[in-house]
Amino acid sequence: MLVRDILSTKQIGKIISVATTDKISAAAELLSEMRIGAVIVRDAGNEIDGILSERDIVRALGRSGSGCLTDLVSALMTSNVKSCAPTDTTQQVMQMMSDGRFRHMPVMEDGKLVGVISIGDVVAARIKEVQFENDSMAEMLAGNI
Ligand code: AMP
Repeated sequence: MLVRDILSTKQIGKIISVATTDKISAAAELLSEMRIGAVIVRDAGNEIDGILSERDIVRALGRSGSGCLTDLVSALMTSNVKSCAPTDTTQQVMQMMSDGRFRHMPVMEDGKLVGVISIGDVVAARIKEVQFENDSMAEMLAGNI
């Protein structure tokens, strides 16, 4: 299965983003309201400035307390964002997430941001794939194929 197939089944079609100048409190509110674990950071156009995940906020809370809620998103986001392409496979993306130790990835096509996938989306897709492979194998062993 490809990243493109995952994007086509996602319920939240639009890309949820914040600006570098937004407050961390506003980003936390958005994460909670949209029930997501990370937001794309971008100021204008299709260029990505960073990614901010719930982990970034929790770490800052643990480090410096609730004062970080008035910090700007730019202070806590990760700027070196790793992205994937719609033509990447679920296995490739799982490997990238595992190697980089992150659970979210923007999907870029021709330099444009076309979606965001999470480890939950990838694992769900992979389970479907494995189930299909098992069913096909069982059919073959039963002599039905
Ligand atoms: P996550 O596991 O996605 O909640 O994020 C863990 C850490 O990796 C946080 O510091 C995020 O800002 C960062 N992060 C999340 N997604 C990416 C990504 N696609 N590329 C680079 N860093 C990321």
